[in-house]
Amino acid sequence: MNKIIVHWTAGTYTPNAVDLEHYHFLVDGDGNVHRGKYKPEDNEDCTDGYYAAHTGGGNTGAIGVAICAMAGFTGSIKAGAYPITPVQLEACFKLCAELCKKYNIQVENVWTHYEFGKNHPSTTSARKIDIIHLPPYPTVKSNEVGGFIRNKIKWYLQKLK
Ligand SMILES: [Zn+2]
Repeated sequence: MNKIIVHWTAGTYTPNAVDLEHYHFLVDGDGNVHRGKYKPEDNEDCTDGYYAAHTGGGNTGAIGVAICAMAGFTGSIKAGAYPITPVQLEACFKLCAELCKKYNIQVENVWTHYEFGKNHPSTTSARKIDIIHLPPYPTVKSNEVGGFIRNKIKWYLQKLK
């Protein structure tokens, strides 16, 4: 595995059946981590069709981590009825740190889906809005979210060493 892509589901605080097929790990509103249908290793080779499709144009070697939240978010500062919760966000940072350690992935290779789309504009991931807004940290701007997440993961990674 060579990277982690962090998403939100644009759903409620609970993963649904479709979410479980598309992400390897899902963090619910209470911060509990759910395993999806596919293992990260299923994404080492996507040519067999047996993999978690979470990042168009970037699924190979990519672990998909999703925060279950943000249904109703339209891009405005109002986060809808299911804003990402603080406990959920911390659980996501911790999970990503554990995955970086387990799979020997550099924190620099953790990206939001939004960032991946910006860096790969010819893929279907272009213009994805997960994650441009962190409700627990409303002053963090869209273009700062990825760096903010990586810094938090680094903090958790230090604690794991
Ligand atoms: Zn996404």
